[in-house]
Amino acid sequence: MVSKPLSFLTRIVFPSQCHQCGTLLTLHEQSVCQICLDHLPRTTHLLNQQLQPLGSTIGACFSAALSFDGEVQILCYALKYGGNYPLAQCLGRHILAPHLLKRTSAPHLILCPIPIHPRRLRRRGYNQSLFLARGCALGLQAAGRSAQVMELLVKREHRKSQVNFSQFTRWGNAAGAFALNDQRAPEGALVVLIDDTLTTGSSLLAAGELLKQRNPKMPLYLLALAKED
Ligand SMILES: [Zn+2]
Repeated sequence: MVSKPLSFLTRIVFPSQCHQCGTLLTLHEQSVCQICLDHLPRTTHLLNQQLQPLGSTIGACFSAALSFDGEVQILCYALKYGGNYPLAQCLGRHILAPHLLKRTSAPHLILCPIPIHPRRLRRRGYNQSLFLARGCALGLQAAGRSAQVMELLVKREHRKSQVNFSQFTRWGNAAGAFALNDQRAPEGALVVLIDDTLTTGSSLLAAGELLKQRNPKMPLYLLALAKED
């Protein structure tokens, strides 16, 4: 890890470029310039309204921040396969945090990343959802909210037979993919489950359902960076 003063000097001597447009970033910007961040396509109100009934099946709010068009697709690809954790942190801070701040007034938030399997973690080097959550926590803290990242879930080895799980749950293949770890969210805090992309929503719903099984009263929010078509 580069120390702060050293990274400051490095940025002056070797300024980095915006991941999207290639312009040189200012010292206050990281990965993507402010203009490109402002122009990333946000999800419509209608789309987020369509997610609500899905979320309400487990008593959770549910929304996605960005539409999965060309440029967002490239960003998500860089998150997943490019090992680009500063980009994940930047998007968490400048996209997820403002998105949440508009939608909840909860004073205390626990940000929980959707876990990836240890084998994938070794191959990829990092969990993109964890860094999205860390960036999001920084953005919420800057706005005066209490926000903390907690990894409440672990990814399980995927079992070949899902038969036993599917009898008890609505979320088919995603059920049984996660397990709870020993950490518990503080009572009353809004738990925000964070994933990078959202297709059917089955991962977020299965993970959310597991948390609700342990604590049915837990205020829960399912949040994805981008909604795929
Ligand atoms: Zn740019």
